[in-house]
Amino acid sequence: MADKNSICPQCGKEFECGAKARLEKCWCFSFPHIISPGEGKDCLCPACVEEKISARTKQTKLTIYRGDITKLHVDAIVNAANSALLGGGGVDGAIHRAAGPELLTECRRLGGCKTGEAKVTKGYNLPATYVIHTVGPVWRGGDQNEPELLASCYKESLLLAHSIGVKTIAFPAISCGLYGYPINKASFIAVTAVKNILTFHSQFKEVFFVCFDERSESAYRQALVV
Ligand code: ADP
Repeated sequence: MADKNSICPQCGKEFECGAKARLEKCWCFSFPHIISPGEGKDCLCPACVEEKISARTKQTKLTIYRGDITKLHVDAIVNAANSALLGGGGVDGAIHRAAGPELLTECRRLGGCKTGEAKVTKGYNLPATYVIHTVGPVWRGGDQNEPELLASCYKESLLLAHSIGVKTIAFPAISCGLYGYPINKASFIAVTAVKNILTFHSQFKEVFFVCFDERSESAYRQALVV
């Protein structure tokens, strides 16, 4: 345990560094534009990283919402779609049912979507103006680029949302249903990727992490406090 510990160069406190402990890439690596990560040598502790991020993202509220994403009155909801974009089960099915058949008609014209990318349609009968469709990775044990692809879903969805003037947006737990991504890993990636984009784009007023069950809610609560 002791050899995994680092001293934070900012506050001087001892902490367990993710990079050093080889648990995950450390928190610093997700924010290289505001922190210089040192692979465990000069990494800041999570509290000091969080302080720097908060200063850059304080204009946006991050909210955990327990319930059905199709009921949310936001500018855009994100759909955890499959690459055909022709509807499916889980949140995808719920979104298509609530939006009505015109959503599928528009989706047919999009020509599918690759894993980690995002495409936008109107929301039709949904309270949300837009649906941003993104395709999460299928969990295959974690060494098939799944973390990068999952982070890319959040990043590409937010960049697309930014380009059409969205100010409020709701994400489901992408890949955490049928695609089998472990929720405690996925929630951390989701929160980190969202905060990363928010440090560049300040237009967003509120980002919702929609949790369908108690387990995902508690994973997101942990991820949001670092
Ligand atoms: P994937 O195929 O990407 O895993 P799923 O739709 O199977 O997508 O599941 C993604 C997450 O969405 C899961 O955590 C699931 O519980 C949740 N979910 C399912 N229906 C809804 C809904 N109506 N609103 C919000 N989240 C939902």
